Amino acid sequence: MSRGAAGLVLRTGVAWAGPLWVAWRRRGWGRAARALTPSEAGPLVGYFSGELLRRVRVAEVRRIDLWAPLGRVGERLAARGGMVGWPAGLALDDLTVVAAGMPERELRRESLLFHEMVHVVQWRVLGRRRFLREYVGSWAAAGRAYGEIPLEVMAYELQERFDAGERFDAEGEVRERLG
Ligand SMILES: [Zn+2]
Repeated sequence: MSRGAAGLVLRTGVAWAGPLWVAWRRRGWGRAARALTPSEAGPLVGYFSGELLRRVRVAEVRRIDLWAPLGRVGERLAARGGMVGWPAGLALDDLTVVAAGMPERELRRESLLFHEMVHVVQWRVLGRRRFLREYVGSWAAAGRAYGEIPLEVMAYELQERFDAGERFDAEGEVRERLG
């Protein structure tokens, strides 16, 4: 299949199945979700509104298994798409999923939470369908390069500034850039 045709199939599939997948995973992970603890929310105050910090939910899981329903086929597809390994964090709507153990090893937990909070704002601004369309569409258009997805580029860029200790209204910036 040509890249254009594959992209069309992918976009159609995402438009049709994406929101269902999100609802299904959101429900599964959401069962074990809780509010941010004061020590988690503390470092994020000022970057995100109090309302958002109160509403966001966190689920800690052993491993973020995106491809569980697809088993090995899904894992192979993910590997071909450059999405190898298990993500340390993931945001679905207002839910942030964090893989236990990984943040400590690979990056600061507050930095990971900051990154996922940027995605939570993106979900809020764009809505479920548009977020998925933009995220997956740009991933396919960039030859399935995770690092070139504009929504990820934005999250990493803001995360770097957070890591450097800059104080800024991250939520406002995301809204402005996507508005
Ligand atoms: Zn991200």
